[in-house]
Amino acid sequence: MEKINCIGILTSGGDSPGMNAAIRAVTRAAIYHGYTVKGIMRGYKGLITGEIVPFQTQNVSNIIQQGGTILKTARSAEFMTPEGRQLAYDNMRKEGIDALVVIGGDGSLTGARIFAQEFNIPIVGLPGTIDNDLYGTDTTIGYDTALNTIMEAVDKIRDTATSHERLFFIEVMGRNAGFLALNGAIATGAEAAIIPEIATEVDQLAELIQNGFRKSKNSSIVLVAESELTGGALGLAERVKKEYPQYDVRVTILGHIQRGGSPSASDRILATRMGEAAIIALMEDQRNVMIGIDNDELVYVPFSKAIRNDKPINRDLLNTVKVLSI
Ligand code: ATP
Repeated sequence: MEKINCIGILTSGGDSPGMNAAIRAVTRAAIYHGYTVKGIMRGYKGLITGEIVPFQTQNVSNIIQQGGTILKTARSAEFMTPEGRQLAYDNMRKEGIDALVVIGGDGSLTGARIFAQEFNIPIVGLPGTIDNDLYGTDTTIGYDTALNTIMEAVDKIRDTATSHERLFFIEVMGRNAGFLALNGAIATGAEAAIIPEIATEVDQLAELIQNGFRKSKNSSIVLVAESELTGGALGLAERVKKEYPQYDVRVTILGHIQRGGSPSASDRILATRMGEAAIIALMEDQRNVMIGIDNDELVYVPFSKAIRNDKPINRDLLNTVKVLSI
């Protein structure tokens, strides 16, 4: 195996709070262990265009508390082509980068897996996404902060919902995974969560209304994961307005507020532990793995497993929401 001297870091896909803490940990752990570090700007896009800068310890000073990513992030259609990845590889060679740490979601790790296989490059991934949808890790960097942001926002909406005796559909992120919607519902005492995992199995809205979820309440909050299938909060609200015109329905789409903000203590700690672990993984000749956390233990999860797109959600929690909404 080729000796690693220089490690490149990039952030890719949607930004998530804690990515900076991860960049800091990767950079400092790498320098501590004698590697040189290069920051790759704008994800795979910057690897293709050669936007690469040397990183010293002071490049990552004072960022642990900042949301977003100092390396910027982008989506790159070019990296999805063999020609684009060849350009990326050529730039890596030109810059003397021997290994990569990729921080991002399932798309970013899918790209990392293909790139690593094509060019036999050591790559370690960190799960950076608010959606918590990567398999093999209990949680992802940014998820806890996003959940707390949702909780604060919904608490505020609850005041209006109660005062006006309204039914609110609040849309949160998580197109393919209902972790934010379900745990957000638990944390805010919402009356229901509508999640993609069961969207094709049951008509969750019809079930909700049949259960008479508003009978004893003067306000109701339903957390809805964004979804093309259900139409998200707007789609569900339209249905309710048509079928149950007696309800005073409102919609709030939380949108990008969920991605921003200073990372929570949990996310900073997780990102820091995972960032250091990425360097240890490279030192141990690990290849094509994502760092995960399982029962507070750091684990190596092969990319193929991490991106398989069917991380199980705890369905008992749906019942918990139902039981507690009486
Ligand atoms: P989030 O979960 O926040 O959306 P993500 O990492 O899943 O983040 P994507 O937009 O899906 O975000 O992927 C980021 C980038 O990863 C893409 O723009 C592309 O450059 C690369 N990528 C994704 N899928 C592939 C693929 N199949 N082959 C090569 N590159 C890919």
